[in-house]
Amino acid sequence: MSYEIIVCVKQVPDTENLTGDAMKEDGTVNRSALPAIVNPEDLNALELAVSVKDAHGGRVTVISMGPPNAAEALRECLYRGADTAVLLTDRRFAASDTLATSYVLSCAVRALGSPDILLCGRQAIDGDTAQIGPQLAEKLGLPQFTYVEQLADIGDGCVTVRRALDDGYEVVRGPLPALLTVTSEANAPRPPSAKRVMRYKKARAACELVNEDETLLGELRQRGLLIEQWGLEEIGAEEAACGGSGSPTRVKKIDSVQLRSEEHKPVEPTTEGLTELVEELIAEHILD
Ligand SMILES: Cc1cc2nc3c(=O)[nH]c(=O)nc-3n(C[C@H](O)[C@H](O)[C@H](O)COP(=O)(O)OP(=O)(O)OC[C@H]3O[C@@H](n4cnc5c(N)ncnc54)[C@H](O)[C@@H]3O)c2cc1C
Repeated sequence: MSYEIIVCVKQVPDTENLTGDAMKEDGTVNRSALPAIVNPEDLNALELAVSVKDAHGGRVTVISMGPPNAAEALRECLYRGADTAVLLTDRRFAASDTLATSYVLSCAVRALGSPDILLCGRQAIDGDTAQIGPQLAEKLGLPQFTYVEQLADIGDGCVTVRRALDDGYEVVRGPLPALLTVTSEANAPRPPSAKRVMRYKKARAACELVNEDETLLGELRQRGLLIEQWGLEEIGAEEAACGGSGSPTRVKKIDSVQLRSEEHKPVEPTTEGLTELVEELIAEHILD
């Protein structure tokens, strides 16, 4: 059996390669000073999707909600094996919290038609909430498998996965369609293929073209190089549930947490020093 698979990918600032001007004075991330990358665990989700397609056949669609330059993240996914890409971009989506983001994504998934497998990364490295996957499953009424570190089996309308737990793992089986959130342990994402880079480097979304040139759009569509661009109307979303108006979260204050040396307790690299540390961790219930 072949599978229709949708992967949600987020373009994020590369917070692992921080430069001096990475933070603004108000403590928020200076996105323009950081290179934009595909959220790392979304590449693990994409790899899982492409492996299922390679083994069983089917189609992998990547979707991303973001500003026009999120099209770059979608091209990266096309280079790595996705078949189709959809950019969800609309001024009315801006200022979305996780509730509004998962609402927009759920509308887009419905507009694409129900997939057999819906994949997310476990967590985004900027927002860091890990809420989108579970919220999306809830909104779409899908069973969810979070913290997936291995796809053990797929077939007969079911999926079996290994989920990471705090102190080990569990193997869970359940029906498809389902949503999986994938961890970095799941696989090693394949690099972009040179052949696919040559094919898709000219793929564009309408917002990347000068005056959204209709003739060029038609040509791109004909050559399979159009990154679909959908706004509020295309996904049939309610404006009140999108962007700031659909976001109950209010950020009241942002603090930049800086650890100072007096908050560190030096541990002597001796048996006595380590014994004392372990005893302290047990006393504070950090270790059992
Ligand atoms: C009040 C408020 C206002 C905000 N305004 C903005 C804003 O204007 N612009 C902005 O960029 N962010 C904004 N954010 C941040 C935004 O809410 C989160 O980045 C977003 O909802 C995703 O949450 P997360 O990063 O914690 O993702 P997680 O839940 O950690 O992500 C898990 C997975 O969900 C998927 N996913 C997450 N986000 C997307 C996406 N956008 N497209 C496709 N897949 C996705 C990915 O697979 C990802 O690995 C705002 C947040 C708040 C609280």
